Amino acid sequence: MGRDFYKKIFQGIIMVEKTGNKIFNKFNSASLMQATYLASENFQLRALFEAKDDILNNGKYNEINFYRILDGLLDAETERKLIIDALKNKDPLLMEEIIELIDLPYENVIYNIIYIKEQGFIKEIVEEEKTKKEVNGETKVETTLIYKYILNNFSNGFKENFFEPVSIVFDSGYCCNCGWCSSVCPLDAIKVSSDNLEIDQDLCIKCGLCYSVCPRSFSIDQVYNNLYQTNKSLQFSNKIGFYRSSYSGHTTNENIEEVKQDGGVVTALLEYLLANNLVDAIVAVQHSEDLWKPEPVIVDEISDLYKTAGTKYANSPSLNIIDQTKIYDRIAVVGVPCMMKALFKGALFPASIPFFTNIKIKIGLFCMESFSYDNIINLVKDKFEKELSDIVKMNIDKGKFIVNLTSGEELKVPLKEVQSYARDTCHYCDDLTSDFADISVGSIGSQAGWSSVILRSEEGEKIYMDAVKSGLIKSKKLTEVKPGKFLVEKIGGIKRKKCKPIRWKEI
Ligand SMILES: Cc1cc2nc3c(=O)[nH]c(=O)nc-3n(C[C@H](O)[C@H](O)[C@H](O)COP(=O)(O)OP(=O)(O)OC[C@H]3O[C@@H](n4cnc5c(N)ncnc54)[C@H](O)[C@@H]3O)c2cc1C
Ligand code: SF4
Ligand code: SF4
Ligand code: SF4
Repeated sequence: MGRDFYKKIFQGIIMVEKTGNKIFNKFNSASLMQATYLASENFQLRALFEAKDDILNNGKYNEINFYRILDGLLDAETERKLIIDALKNKDPLLMEEIIELIDLPYENVIYNIIYIKEQGFIKEIVEEEKTKKEVNGETKVETTLIYKYILNNFSNGFKENFFEPVSIVFDSGYCCNCGWCSSVCPLDAIKVSSDNLEIDQDLCIKCGLCYSVCPRSFSIDQVYNNLYQTNKSLQFSNKIGFYRSSYSGHTTNENIEEVKQDGGVVTALLEYLLANNLVDAIVAVQHSEDLWKPEPVIVDEISDLYKTAGTKYANSPSLNIIDQTKIYDRIAVVGVPCMMKALFKGALFPASIPFFTNIKIKIGLFCMESFSYDNIINLVKDKFEKELSDIVKMNIDKGKFIVNLTSGEELKVPLKEVQSYARDTCHYCDDLTSDFADISVGSIGSQAGWSSVILRSEEGEKIYMDAVKSGLIKSKKLTEVKPGKFLVEKIGGIKRKKCKPIRWKEI
């Protein structure tokens, strides 16, 4: 079975116009062959390969897509086996020391180490380092966590961890209903709604792809920190993540002005992207037939974009529809932080290539929490004695939950009074500002009618600055407005502190 399987995979991989992976040039052919052979034993590769006919019949991935994923997976697994080989008989090592040891691009070493840990091959050892610091004449002790990695002991019948389908995430109460697993699943076995997740066990081939990409399965904090901490063009705050620059902006477009939530920066950026042919379509959210119930939507016309503006505080499983964007070469995706993390994770794992290569720009919103649709109805009834049809706008500002009525009246209650209506899963979320997006936008930090904007990637920064140059957005530095970046960091820090840890042992 082994040799046959191995041969067939390579025959298929030739189809994806493989030009030879230069990453492996520095390894001698014997160790590379051995690593590739071991890699072909991987459970995900086998499960996928054996289900090839069913996957192609399902139609989500065509034969080229299928072998592209398999090729990526085989390369990534080969890299992992080379790393495992290099770690044999070594003491616990820092990530930087492992990077020095292995002739692979440093970013590949970083994400593969974390993946190998999840597969059970290596152990993470966390040590505390205490340093004394003089602050205003007082001596303070600062604790830094140091992460080291060592191979596990293979002598006692070691077995690679199999990744379970994501029902494990949902059944444990950790699923945030982003919908990403459903788009990725090659057999369309997963149905995600705003409050449910179901897996068709007859279709599921236990490939574990859904688990690899799920933002709630295993943590990628160490990947994120290690990947960006050496990038000199980035600033870092442990409360709002890595970023290049930050601004406060508002749109100058009157159409957007009428429908926007805060500064209309999100819709203005989306308009800029479509108008300048930088993307072909956008994944956003509009009202469904049920008022205030969000419905994910693919938009390729500017006039339809205006229907998506404004915040709907009920959660939307927007990433469900990413697989329907295949007809477009380049898309932008708008979503809350958990969705941005899902897309980032899916571009790294399991194959270090994105499942949908057409995602060009990710616009992440700030998000303290979201509500189930039923709880939005309850909240409006209980706290304001109103129906959803009475409401024209909902907003969270200066610690208050605010509703604007059709009558023109504005009502507000303290945010802490509505917190019990928030979804329980949001209590496991530590990201306020969409750390994993290209561009993050929220209201905290800016004056009413303006949006705070955090630019994280080079592409994100260029798009925003070009939209400002075009006159579509007015912009000031976030450090030059009140309350500004200070408040974004403060609330970001509060969310990190309040976040409950995910504990799989409690399942
Ligand atoms: C659930 C939720 C909670 C939020 N909590 C905070 C907060 O605590 N603090 C803060 O500063 N900002 C928060 N925001 C962001 C804020 O409400 C605005 O979306 C942001 O300031 C952008 O304003 P804008 O005028 O530029 O956006 P607009 O130009 O009005 O565009 C809004 C965009 O948001 C998208 N959208 C609307 N509802 C959803 C949804 N449910 N899921 C995914 N996308 C959606 C739309 O598709 C549209 O593209 C939250 C947003 C959401 C969706
Ligand atoms: S990918 Fe998203 S929808 Fe799927 S299990 Fe994970 S959190 Fe839930
Ligand atoms: S549900 Fe998950 S494990 Fe099952 S086939 Fe789909 S992606 Fe694979
Ligand atoms: S609080 Fe976190 S989990 Fe909840 S909707 Fe916002 S980003 Fe997603």
